[in-house]
Amino acid sequence: MTGEPRDDCLFCKIVAGQIPATIVRETDTTVAFRDINPQAPTHVLVIPKAHYRDAAALAEGAPELAADVLRETRAVAEQEQLDSYRTIFNTGSGAGQTVWHTHAHVLGGRGLEWPPG
Ligand code: 5GP
Ligand code: ZN
Repeated sequence: MTGEPRDDCLFCKIVAGQIPATIVRETDTTVAFRDINPQAPTHVLVIPKAHYRDAAALAEGAPELAADVLRETRAVAEQEQLDSYRTIFNTGSGAGQTVWHTHAHVLGGRGLEWPPG
């Protein structure tokens, strides 16, 4: 839970510029980039630059950074001109988490049913 970058982490490599990504916003502590397999017209991932395996570890280890990520989800929605949007943190493989570096999905630009499937 240290936040140190990991050599085996895809999103740490995006932060380091070792893997290309379509970056839409960047701050001192966060990066936002388009999901490679978009599930909506806007599908952006907001990540902390520091490595935390999931949202729970981020909230526990670095609450100020968790707040930065949430602030950025709003900034992405504004930049993408979304009136309505959904912010999702998948936590654990049973919930669909496949990348073990905390990321908020920001989805919008289409109707989003509730409850989700
Ligand atoms: P999860 O399933 O862990 O909640 O979300 C991981 C997301 O990362 C998926 O929506 C997947 O499409 C996206 N993703 C996986 N590999 C890459 C990549 O190399 N680049 C980008 N931009 N997105 C990726
Ligand atoms: Zn990482």
